[in-house]
Amino acid sequence: MRLVTSLTNPSIKALRGLHERKYRRQSGLFLAEGLRIVTEAIELGWPPQTLIFLSGREEDAQLAPLIRKAEAGGADIIAVNEAVLAKISRKDNPQMVLASFVERWVDGSTAMAASKGCWIALDRVRDPGNLGTILRTADAAGASGVMLIGECCDAWSVESVRASMGAIFNIGLARFTEEEFLAARPNWKGRVIGTALPASVDYREAKWQAPLMLLMGNEQAGLTNALMASADELVRMPMLGRSDSLNLAVATGISLYEFLRHQADS
Ligand code: SAM
Repeated sequence: MRLVTSLTNPSIKALRGLHERKYRRQSGLFLAEGLRIVTEAIELGWPPQTLIFLSGREEDAQLAPLIRKAEAGGADIIAVNEAVLAKISRKDNPQMVLASFVERWVDGSTAMAASKGCWIALDRVRDPGNLGTILRTADAAGASGVMLIGECCDAWSVESVRASMGAIFNIGLARFTEEEFLAARPNWKGRVIGTALPASVDYREAKWQAPLMLLMGNEQAGLTNALMASADELVRMPMLGRSDSLNLAVATGISLYEFLRHQADS
């Protein structure tokens, strides 16, 4: 354990860099913040690479065991002052603990071979808040993971990890180009249900059965024609007011819980 109070310290600079996609790509690391989330991550088998905490709090009842566990897992343990913590977190009221972790991807062919449960496939999701919220909802609904298709926002960004509320540590993430996804699609043994505004089937009438792949479209453009064609069924949620569509994360949540309802009934 060491104390660092300088913003120019190389370890601190590297951690601050994790706000930028370029540095996350180079290092393969991402940041997560908060005592609860970092504790859960360790419990789920994600040893932190670096653990940063507010100097003077090392004897706190919840922090002390966390520091011990992270140290046992080989983490670099750094005590910092409030100013350094705020710079790393980029928040006015930063959490007492931050940690960096090595990102993990599920192999695309493994994800496509799933034989139970549900995977959510997102076409070019752009908003990290939406992606994090979908990860959180997917975890809540017991889904196995999320497939990212095409140019998506970074799942490991601070915004996405924050919005996931730690679910990113409990949900598989796989990535595909659209071509890779379409080529691998025949390997998916279950049902594929796409959600799309032009669909004629009401989502409550769909054949929700496991293993399920739920296909969700881009925030602006919806699903590409090729992805729509790859679904076994396309469904829509009624739009009764003036809005022409639901938010992507909301539409994903409604669909997932409809799937769960059918699972409970069957
Ligand atoms: N202008 C886009 C379009 O034409 O599809 C709206 C995209 S919407 C914000 C993002 C995604 O959420 C859609 O591609 C679809 O997967 C899902 N979605 C949102 N509202 C929906 C609805 N009422 N019925 C079916 N899917 C919906």
